[in-house]
Amino acid sequence: MSQTIDQIKPSYPLFREPEYVDNLARKRDGVEEGHSAEKIEEIFQWSTTPEYQELNFKREALTVNPAKACQPLGAVLCALGFEKTLPYVHGSQGCVAYFRTYFNRHFKEPIACVSDSMTEDAAVFGGQKNMFDGLENAMALYKPKMIAVSTTCMAEVIGDDLNAFIGNAKKEGYIPSEFPTPFAHTPSFVGSHTTGWDNMFEGIQRYFTINAMDDKVVGSNGKINLVPGFETYLGNYRVLHRMMKEMGVDYSLLCDPTEVLDTPADGEFRMYDGGTRLEEMQDAPNAIDTLLLQPWQLAKTKKFVQITWKQPSSHLNIPMGLAWTDEFLMKVAELTGKPIPDSLTKERGRLVDMMTDSHAWLHGKKFALYGDADFVLGMVKFLLELGAEPTHVLCHQANKRWKKEAETLLASSPFGKEGKVYTGCDLWHFRSLCFTDKPDFMIGNSYGKFIQRDTLHKGKEHEVPLIRIGFPIFDRHHLHRMTTLGYEGAMYLLTTLVNAVLERLDDETRGMGTTDYNYDLVR
Ligand code: SF4
Repeated sequence: MSQTIDQIKPSYPLFREPEYVDNLARKRDGVEEGHSAEKIEEIFQWSTTPEYQELNFKREALTVNPAKACQPLGAVLCALGFEKTLPYVHGSQGCVAYFRTYFNRHFKEPIACVSDSMTEDAAVFGGQKNMFDGLENAMALYKPKMIAVSTTCMAEVIGDDLNAFIGNAKKEGYIPSEFPTPFAHTPSFVGSHTTGWDNMFEGIQRYFTINAMDDKVVGSNGKINLVPGFETYLGNYRVLHRMMKEMGVDYSLLCDPTEVLDTPADGEFRMYDGGTRLEEMQDAPNAIDTLLLQPWQLAKTKKFVQITWKQPSSHLNIPMGLAWTDEFLMKVAELTGKPIPDSLTKERGRLVDMMTDSHAWLHGKKFALYGDADFVLGMVKFLLELGAEPTHVLCHQANKRWKKEAETLLASSPFGKEGKVYTGCDLWHFRSLCFTDKPDFMIGNSYGKFIQRDTLHKGKEHEVPLIRIGFPIFDRHHLHRMTTLGYEGAMYLLTTLVNAVLERLDDETRGMGTTDYNYDLVR
């Protein structure tokens, strides 16, 4: 065997050794009944053509490589942002294993989340018994302060009623009646992870405030509430805290999983850590206003803020890039009467300095991008501010209004004139676009690496390098700790973008004695 105890090799380069190459070839030829290499290559080449793209965009009943995840995954992230809260998913064990591993691989942290493991009998007779046992066991074993319940497709298909099940569990004494158990139905055959986050957040708002509004007065606590939405950059929570503190603003960040998703290795396992205190949620209707930082994904939250809490929920765009961070800070200043401090003005000036330093390298570069609705809009806005050209803008889960908004944003700048917006499309559509109308780079989560590989296979001149910004990012470490919001976030984004451009330039100009006039150190 080529694997020895003295020299353990990972799958690469191990599987490139002759015995594995032979073994895998025999398996392929003998039992897999695959197509010949020539046929595969022929179909690959066809799949890169405009003719194939036309067929691809006619696809109706099939999604290939979706640029989104499912509702309960978002509900779990929302639950993790509250103090000592255990996310509980009513439904199949396999789904929950997927949520845990997804977050696990992205955040490189253990993820506390339980399921009541419905199986065939529960699928036929309903899952109430599972919920009774599940809630009782979860409380006894993991001692949470709150259990936030969402559902998988299976429970939704059979129509399990969370309100009734949780009520019955309390009535029959499986858990105390006063124990906090907000819930949200999160059917994954509609919406996405962002819808699930919104649903869960609304469930928590509802649980703590719907029957406790009599003594609430808008503005009486002098605070503003910030709602992050489905946010996986931990630096974004931290920069919001920092900016509010520098402004001297009293605020509540409603949902903050930074601590539990970034626990130190100091010998102590923390199943729960940090998070928004439940009292803050109870007090939230007393705030001056509730600002939604990713408004396109928070429709239910907004409705609740406006109708039940009677706050305006002032309109904002995601605070990404220069202008939209300005807007955010000015709105906070307007609502609270606190001026924007010199420290933030100086930080803004540094960002402008960086933008002028780098714009020559970014000007006119073409970027295709995909991701969640607010992230994509924020990224487009910042690319336009940098003089870069967003060419293909794809959001799998977005409505017609969003599409119009994205098109208006592109039309507002000469650099956006060539940009096209795609909604309801997946990464297989995106792959076609990368072949037929090649951008210089693509921006998105780790799944774009297959498109980079495929475009490279067609030839180096067709390769579209992936710049990893988004969720999930499995194949690079610690990027989830970075910041994409505020001036600080714009600095990170700019650094990432311009260095990707310079890396690519080096990559293309390494020919010794041929292209090394540009492989210099005089930049
Ligand atoms: S889409 Fe439905 S079945 Fe699939 S993982 Fe999500 S909840 Fe489970």
